[in-house]
Amino acid sequence: MSELLFRDDAYLRAAGGARVVAVHERGIELDRTLFYPQGGGQMGDTGALLRENGQRIVIADTRKGDAIDSVFHVPAPEMPRPEVGEMLALEIDWERRYRLMRLHTALHVMSCVVVAPVTGGNIAPDKARLDFDIDMSLLNAETIERETNQLIARAVETETVWITDAELDARPELVKTMSVQPPRGAGRVRLLKIPGIDLQPCGGTHVRNISEIGGIRVIKIRSEGRRNRRVEIALAA
Ligand SMILES: [Zn+2]
Repeated sequence: MSELLFRDDAYLRAAGGARVVAVHERGIELDRTLFYPQGGGQMGDTGALLRENGQRIVIADTRKGDAIDSVFHVPAPEMPRPEVGEMLALEIDWERRYRLMRLHTALHVMSCVVVAPVTGGNIAPDKARLDFDIDMSLLNAETIERETNQLIARAVETETVWITDAELDARPELVKTMSVQPPRGAGRVRLLKIPGIDLQPCGGTHVRNISEIGGIRVIKIRSEGRRNRRVEIALAA
């Protein structure tokens, strides 16, 4: 189990003092991390672990381990493996992560423009998508783009809110995403609140103010099956 530093501050780019807890075939486990593991549709972080001898262990991907809050840092091929107990400094590829944060937060906003159950989603550094259970005739790229950008222009601050599993069970309307149930088992669930726009369970990384998204473009709308009408977006700039 790792202390997830990105959960309280998604803007941390570097940190020192992480201890190697285990080195597995699947990756390196640390007692604390900045690296977001792939989940909730958002791709895992990349970056580097810095050894005291100056060596850089390039991290090509980050994945969840089996236990709650366990994180595997996946080294690029041919990278040295650290020793258990070794202290490392951490550094994420911030430019890439910040694009993921902007696109991720943009999907929250867009999910309030297209009012339909969400059946899937994905966030990559260059584009992001949501799949909706909706009739194709109700999806218009120009309208979605304009209305999403109008909401982004409100420039509101985002907030993180924690509720208990029981409180979430009492408010099933909060769960828009049918394919991704919020992580349970820890007794509490993290919500992202965009005041006046959106409130839903989410463990991902978001921008502090939606103005940081800067605006989006709808790049594609297509049918991926009866319950998967896919809306794909990119950052406007
Ligand atoms: Zn989110």
